[in-house]
Amino acid sequence: MDTVRLKAYAKINLGLDVIRKREDGYHEVRMIMQTIGLYDKISINPTNNPSIKVKTNLHYLPTDKNNLVYKAAALMKETYQIKDGVYIHLEKRIPVAAGMAGGSTDAATTLYGMNRLFHLKLSNEELLKLAVQIGADVPYCVMRGTALSEGIGEILTPLPPFPSCHVLIVKPNINVSTKFVYENLHLDSSTNHPDIDGIMKHIKEQDLYGASKLFGNVLETVTEKEYPIINDIKTRMLENGAIVSLMSGSGPTVFGLFDDIKTAEKAFYDFKVSPLGKQVYLTNLFQPDANKFV
Ligand code: ATP
Repeated sequence: MDTVRLKAYAKINLGLDVIRKREDGYHEVRMIMQTIGLYDKISINPTNNPSIKVKTNLHYLPTDKNNLVYKAAALMKETYQIKDGVYIHLEKRIPVAAGMAGGSTDAATTLYGMNRLFHLKLSNEELLKLAVQIGADVPYCVMRGTALSEGIGEILTPLPPFPSCHVLIVKPNINVSTKFVYENLHLDSSTNHPDIDGIMKHIKEQDLYGASKLFGNVLETVTEKEYPIINDIKTRMLENGAIVSLMSGSGPTVFGLFDDIKTAEKAFYDFKVSPLGKQVYLTNLFQPDANKFV
């Protein structure tokens, strides 16, 4: 059996709304998700002993069952009674704990990789059922592209591809706990909910500017209050000519969209030398080929 090598792509949220807190403690969300060209690299090798071994370039990440790559491989092994073990190498490039679903996309990609390596011939629908057992964002990371995500993240509706543009990613040197953000989100009549339906309407019309005007993330109110640097980055992106800038997920990563590469590159170099950004990337949207996993 050959080594399987795959790219695990990050996501940004073009819109993120929280509808309510459910009785079971989960939050019901409505989010517009978009895959971008920033990725981790995953290679999976079969081994003769039954164990799962994970190695990664980031020494502080877990390599046991607490790594989502391990969890995904273990779920596949158990569900399909795979006797062989695997050696997985994970090269992280997506900022960690940053609101870009890094761990979830690694898990989704491992599901694809195990499917291919062991010739399981599972459909996307079967992979989606496994994905939801790992985490709320993992099903979207199996689907990828432009999509509406509802429920706790497991109800997915594909949308027409978002109009192509350049994406600047800036992650400041702070760590934000997703748990902290949700615990400090207090929804009331003054909450400014983004117009998710309006964004979808403009996406269907392929109207980049119209959609961008409506972008919003209800979690920004919590994170920006605690970490003013997020607002500083957003402001600087707009000063640098971004069409829109927004925090992704529960942060602290901020993204900006640009329709002109020269402006985007200028902004990229500005952030590269600025103390505001610890990790800075310039990339594009990524729209997957429905029949092919890259
Ligand atoms: P989300 O956007 O879904 O909220 P995130 O970007 O905030 O995700 P991750 O990068 O997925 O967060 O990581 C959150 C935590 O999960 C990390 O602190 C890390 O300890 C753990 N983790 C487990 N597996 C992975 C992985 N493969 N990559 C990154 N983090 C992982």
